[in-house]
Amino acid sequence: MHYLSTRNNQLKESFLNILFRGLSKDGGLFLPSEWPTISLKNLAGKSYQEVAHSIIFPYIKDDVPDSDLKFIINEAYKNFDHNKIAPVVNIDKNKYVLELFYGPTFAFKDYALQFLGNLFSYLLTKRKKKITVLGATSGDTGSAAINAFKGKDDIEVFILHPHNNVSEVQRRQMTTIEETNIHNFAIEGNFDDCQRIVKELFVDEEIQSKTSLTAINSINWIRIIAQTVYYFWSYLQLNKEKVNFIVPSGNFGNIFSARVAKYMGLPINELHIVTNENDILNRSIKTGEMKILKVKQTYSPSMDIQISSNFERQLFESSDRDSNFLNDLMRSFSKNNEVTIPQNILKNIQSIYNTHSVTDSEVLQTIKEFYNKYNYLSDPHTATGLNILSKLNTNVANISLACAHPAKFKNAIFDAINKEPPVPQDLKKIFDKEEKMTILENKKELVKSNILKLI
Ligand SMILES: *Cc1c(COP(=O)(O)O)cnc(C)c1O
Repeated sequence: MHYLSTRNNQLKESFLNILFRGLSKDGGLFLPSEWPTISLKNLAGKSYQEVAHSIIFPYIKDDVPDSDLKFIINEAYKNFDHNKIAPVVNIDKNKYVLELFYGPTFAFKDYALQFLGNLFSYLLTKRKKKITVLGATSGDTGSAAINAFKGKDDIEVFILHPHNNVSEVQRRQMTTIEETNIHNFAIEGNFDDCQRIVKELFVDEEIQSKTSLTAINSINWIRIIAQTVYYFWSYLQLNKEKVNFIVPSGNFGNIFSARVAKYMGLPINELHIVTNENDILNRSIKTGEMKILKVKQTYSPSMDIQISSNFERQLFESSDRDSNFLNDLMRSFSKNNEVTIPQNILKNIQSIYNTHSVTDSEVLQTIKEFYNKYNYLSDPHTATGLNILSKLNTNVANISLACAHPAKFKNAIFDAINKEPPVPQDLKKIFDKEEKMTILENKKELVKSNILKLI
């Protein structure tokens, strides 16, 4: 097993190299040289941790011994607040919700980042190395990463979030951390601006020469594969022949993890991508015109994205791994903010994904409807998926992903049902603590000089 880049299919990198780099030097995203298949029979009766081991091991076996991986996985999931880690809840006939908010920061990002944090610690201690973690967040990745890396000696963490564009709970989860290796930059711009600055810093030679920069955004391959685990896990809980998944989407990370599960042999019938009003994925896949529009602020900030980075991975797969094509396409996209996906590639993508877009008013309606009809309270991201779940009438089990705890998005819940959501004890604590963050203009050089001062 080795790793290649979407912009260079001849690359042969080891897992260790791609883990710490995140993004390839050529600007592309890493993918494994092959898709190992998993025998479903062998997974029957296993715990979440054991399933995680079976899924992840083939990708990292050259660099992490079997027993060490077991230890890392057990550490990663010990602070999750549900004995099933990620339980499947039955809502109605053939309608299920996979709940992914039992980690320390109450959103699905914990499932990959708690694992990543422990994997990094293990490898850095072994190699006596220090790294700088740099990431952009629309809210949940930042808090999950900060929680996973806080207090770790060999890791300095810089997280960029769009100033005034994340929920109060999301912001406080990031800014109330006392550990001194955590640094929050609030950028006067939107999430795409933050992500662009991060991408530029990753190819900045001065920064590269002073520290070892590591990406923890969902462009990091290990996050994708760690999320693949709960697709298998939910299937195993249901005991059905086939399943459909409905995935609220922004950066195309979670839905691509589902696609990877299918490559690895999970019998997935349909994959549904759901966006909010920032619907670039829905438009691109329906029409082939991939065009950036202005980012709208919605009730689901973690999906307020117009550049879905991981979509490049699917474009690469659907072009039969043609990196020349990807170079041309992505160069043109970044220059013109729009590009046309060729018909043959588009057809392939359309054969894999159904796409939908859900408006803010539909989100409120759906939160209310599920609360009244099923006594089920969902967060606004989850509600985009539930809106589609309520409309699907198939004989196949439909599993919609619950991406965050409703208490993270009090305003949306209040607007939907005129009541505040119940707040878990652990979330209440952050309201008494002092906040620490630096507000910066939307400029790469400013972010760079602030990082250089602190490393
Ligand atoms: C990150 C996130 C999403 C979007 O997931 P992608 O992997 O970026 O597509 C949706 N909902 C919540 C709550 C999130 O935190």
